[in-house]
Amino acid sequence: MSGHAISNFHRLVIKVGSSLLVDDSGRLNRSWLDTLAEDVAALAREGHEILIVSSGAIAIGSSVLGINKRRARLEDLQAAAAAGQVQLVHAYQEALRGHEIRAAQVLLTPDDTEDRRRFLNARRTLGKLLEHAVVPIINENDTVATEEIRYGDNDRLAARIAQLVMADALVLLSDVDGLYTADPGSDADAEHIAEVRNISKDILAMAGESRSDIGSGGMATKVQAAGIATHAGCSTIIASGVIAHALKALDDGARHTIFRASATPAVARKQWLAGVLEIKGELQLDAGAVLALRDGSSLLPVGVVAVEGVFQRGDVLTLKDEAGSILGRGLAEYSNDEATRLAGLHSDKIEAALGYRGRSVMVHRDELVLFEDDK
Ligand code: GLU
Repeated sequence: MSGHAISNFHRLVIKVGSSLLVDDSGRLNRSWLDTLAEDVAALAREGHEILIVSSGAIAIGSSVLGINKRRARLEDLQAAAAAGQVQLVHAYQEALRGHEIRAAQVLLTPDDTEDRRRFLNARRTLGKLLEHAVVPIINENDTVATEEIRYGDNDRLAARIAQLVMADALVLLSDVDGLYTADPGSDADAEHIAEVRNISKDILAMAGESRSDIGSGGMATKVQAAGIATHAGCSTIIASGVIAHALKALDDGARHTIFRASATPAVARKQWLAGVLEIKGELQLDAGAVLALRDGSSLLPVGVVAVEGVFQRGDVLTLKDEAGSILGRGLAEYSNDEATRLAGLHSDKIEAALGYRGRSVMVHRDELVLFEDDK
C-alpha cells in the first residue's frame, strides 16, 4: 500500500467513530485522543486544513446519567447526548490546546445541510473557522434531532460536511480497515479492496449490513457516505483508527480502502450548478463585474445593474451582461427584494440599505459557473 494517503490532500474531514474514543463503560480514551491531536497538529503545521466529525456524545453521556444506551428511550438518549457532548468537545479542546490549536464546537441537524439557505450559512461559518485556523469539532445536534430528521449516523453527516466545505478527502476512522469482498469476520476468503473508482452494485453488495457494536454506522453507511462525498469531488478513505497515531499510520501506508473522486470539489460543484433545472431569477452585470468574474472574483452588489425574478437566498440565478448575453449561473446570497435594494451599491453601504449587517457579496465565487470558461 503506497504512502501519503492523507498528505496528498489539502482539506480533510476526519470522522471519528464512538468505538475508538469511548470504551464499553463510557470512559473516554484520552491517551488515544492525544495521539490523534498530535497527528492533526502535524498535518496543520504542514498547511492542511482539518475538520473533525466526532461521535461519542451519547456513549459518554449515558455513563454520566447512568442509563443503558441500548435500552434507553429517545428522550433519555437526547439528554445523554447533551451531557456527553460537553465532555467530548472539552476533551478535544484540551488535547488540541496542547499543540496550540484552537477548537470550535459545531452542532448540526439535517436542515442545516439539506436546506440551501442554511447550507450556505453553514458553509460560510465553517469556511471562516478554517480561515482562522480553528479546527471545527462537529457532531449531530442530537438533543433536538428527532428520529425522523436525523442524519442517522455520523458517516453521513461527515460526508455532508465534506460536500459543504468542498473538502478533497474524507477519512472515516472506525474499527475496520476498509472494504472486503465479504465479511472478514465470518468468511476466511474475504479479500481487502484497496481502491474503488466506481461505487457499483457489486461494491454496495460487499458493504452488506455489518454493524459495529458501539457506533451506529456499519460498512453500508460508510459506502453510502463515500457515494455522497465522491459525487462532490471528495475522495473517501475507510481506515482503522484502533491504533495510536491512526492518521500518521495511515499516511505511512496502513491498510485502507480509498474511493477516488473523479473530479475536484470545485469542478463537481460547478457541474452541479450547471445542471440545476430550476432557475429562479436573473442578475444583469456591468462590464466591470463581468471582467471581475472572469478573473475569479465574487459578484459584488456594485456590479449589478438589474434584478429580475422572485428568489430567495440559495436559489440559482442566471447571470447576464449588459447586452443580455448569458454569462453563467450563480447561487443568490440575497433574496430578490434585498438584491434590488443593493444593486449598484458599494459593499460598505449594505448595512444602511438593508437595516442589518448583510453579506458582502451578491454571488460568491465558489457558487458560480461561467459557461465559456467551464473547463
Ligand atoms: N451523534 C452520536 C453521538 O455523538 C453518534 C452517531 C453515530 O454513532 O454515528 O453519540
